[in-house]
Amino acid sequence: MGDPPMPNPFIGKVSPALGEADGADGIDFSLECPLPSSRHDRITLGHGGGGRLMHSLIDRVFKKAFNDPALAAAHDGADLPSPPGRLAMTTDSYVVHPLFFPGSDIGAMAVNGTVNDLAMCGASPLYLTASFILEEGLEMATLEKVVASMAGAAAAAGIRVVTGDTKVVERGKGDGIFICTAGVGAIGHNLAINPASVKPGDAVLLSGDIGRHGMAVMAVRENLGFTSDLRSDCACLWPGVEALLKAGIQVHCLRDLTRGGLATSLVEISGTGKVRILVNESAIPVGEAVQGACEVLGLDPLYVANEGRFVAFVPASEAERALAALRSTVHCEGATRIGTVESGNGVVMKSTIGASRPLDMLSGEQLPRIC
Ligand code: MG
Repeated sequence: MGDPPMPNPFIGKVSPALGEADGADGIDFSLECPLPSSRHDRITLGHGGGGRLMHSLIDRVFKKAFNDPALAAAHDGADLPSPPGRLAMTTDSYVVHPLFFPGSDIGAMAVNGTVNDLAMCGASPLYLTASFILEEGLEMATLEKVVASMAGAAAAAGIRVVTGDTKVVERGKGDGIFICTAGVGAIGHNLAINPASVKPGDAVLLSGDIGRHGMAVMAVRENLGFTSDLRSDCACLWPGVEALLKAGIQVHCLRDLTRGGLATSLVEISGTGKVRILVNESAIPVGEAVQGACEVLGLDPLYVANEGRFVAFVPASEAERALAALRSTVHCEGATRIGTVESGNGVVMKSTIGASRPLDMLSGEQLPRIC
């Protein structure tokens, strides 16, 4: 499929000097061909122009990597089967800088971030859309690497990439790649999983150690040499949520701990659910590398973004069974109970020395371009 091979003017112009012309008489007459090439090694404005170059990009990069019949149909939208029951839908955009960082990259993050928001609704991942805003001059190899990473993450999560879009902005008007996604998931239960369902008496469970995504990205950006074992926790959270639902846990609320970290998520849920949340600082796992990097940069791990961690609010009587279900799944092996819900309002942290302090949201952005 795709366009027939066309001469690449960039290769063509240098090949005679390098003695690489392949014409029978040593001259390649395609050298002066003015047609735009479909084998550019960098993104050009033409790749977003809606013409032959753009179609070639779609065929060669996106359709090939995502390999879905809905994409192959080359229609204005995807015609998809709908499961019985309710649907969950979510949208997100990804502007992380740099594009690649220890443990993950913008592509896998765009898939997992969207899948995780569906999972937080208790929905199994079904369909994903992906819209790419590319900067003129972006290396084609970089785009291919990001798209391959997305395809791998989508396959692992069991979500189909069914439609997409590509735009190109002039050099200097973007930063390589921005990705916007939308996700649709199937809700196969009758629970109302949301902050309003949180009740006094609920246990607060945390799926593992916190702060790794934010600090892995910051370590690269700030050139922190001592943090070589810092890797993003970016991962698909559906297996952990699915295990809770399959175990019959009456899940009241789920929230992935992205921008703003654990503290911000708890404050949001406390506010929406109109409850008081008590957490024990000593119960919250923070790795040594995260702790060290946070100290150097003057950050609090409670507010650092994660891409593979979530909290679950469940009835206290089901907490142990819920923890066992979580711990049986990949990425949730370190699940632990960190607190309890009471009537009242606000979030209170009991420190390791027994003192209590209220937690609040930060007033500004702690770490820009982290997701
Ligand atoms: Mg979320």
